[in-house]
Amino acid sequence: MKKHNFSAGPSILPQEVFEKASQAVLDFNNSGLSILEISHRSKDFVAVMEEARILALELLGLQGKGYQALFLSGGASLEFVRVPYNLLTENGKAAYLDTGTWAAGAIKEAKRFGETNVIASSKADNYTYIPKDYSIPANADYFHCTSNNTIFGTQMHSFPETDVPVVCDMSSDIFSRELDFSKFSLIYAGAQKNMGPAGTTLVVVKEDILGKTGREIPGILDYAQHIAKESMYNTPPVFAVYTSLLTLQWLKNKGGIAAMEKLNDKKAALLYNEIDRNPLFTGTAHTEDRSKMNVTFLLKDEAHTEQFDRLWKEAGISGLNGHRSVGGYRASIYNAMPVESVQLLVDIMQEFEKKVL
Ligand SMILES: *Cc1c(COP(=O)(O)O)cnc(C)c1O
Repeated sequence: MKKHNFSAGPSILPQEVFEKASQAVLDFNNSGLSILEISHRSKDFVAVMEEARILALELLGLQGKGYQALFLSGGASLEFVRVPYNLLTENGKAAYLDTGTWAAGAIKEAKRFGETNVIASSKADNYTYIPKDYSIPANADYFHCTSNNTIFGTQMHSFPETDVPVVCDMSSDIFSRELDFSKFSLIYAGAQKNMGPAGTTLVVVKEDILGKTGREIPGILDYAQHIAKESMYNTPPVFAVYTSLLTLQWLKNKGGIAAMEKLNDKKAALLYNEIDRNPLFTGTAHTEDRSKMNVTFLLKDEAHTEQFDRLWKEAGISGLNGHRSVGGYRASIYNAMPVESVQLLVDIMQEFEKKVL
């Protein structure tokens, strides 16, 4: 039986994507070859890469606006390194917002390169909220933020207005909601949360911010070289890029980001309403900063853990355990998560309430 997968990542993808990807493993485009054995230089794969790059920009509303999309490897973690390498000038400084484990990881890497200022942090409160009172120094080379904090279940619902280039790690909420993406100079997202399987990272970069550091950049780390090579500087992760393309096509057919956002709002409301109503549960994030992708919550009485865990597992739910740094539960309700699965979880929480009270 197919489970209801609430895992934070790698995570659920649309069923039709699983089916099409499996078919391509057996026979890609009726070529008599598997997607796993074709050359990345073959006509069929070059077309996949081209379409994926264009479709990513199209869905974000960034086509023809000076941006390039790349499908790289090394995870979002490698972008923690590439970003300062490409944007931080020798004597310049970068401004970072510290909103969680991943943001802190990005900060750690940037510090190896140069002056990295953490202009606000919610670490002292175990990252339960998004800091809002901060200002970005006008002379910073860039400002880096994390739009959705996968582990702590918080999400930025507004972004600062600034003339400084904004860089954003959108790994866990890319393509989930409408934003004016042209306010960002660089966006990156590991595919395995909301776009595809592990193995590729989408990088969307405004070309005019590159080439200003005076730094000698190793080829594999240089966005400009990846752009010049049309995202084939080295052998791209062929299967991960293809499966990401299938997901982007699915998303477009469903009505694009606007349609996704409506569904995501509905799913998040359903679950948060239950967490707030049900006397046995409590949310972990400040209400105004709650994530619509990763819903974190606790049992008020941990003595009930075993009983609740048995219930949801028996219902075919998987991947609901919270990250060790928060504890409790985390329901990741990415784009591909059907409303029906969220409803099932709510039903289980209500059934649990009847049993306990
Ligand atoms: C998962 C995650 C990462 C790390 O991604 P990798 O692909 O494992 O390097 C970075 N940032 C955010 C917001 C994430 O959710």
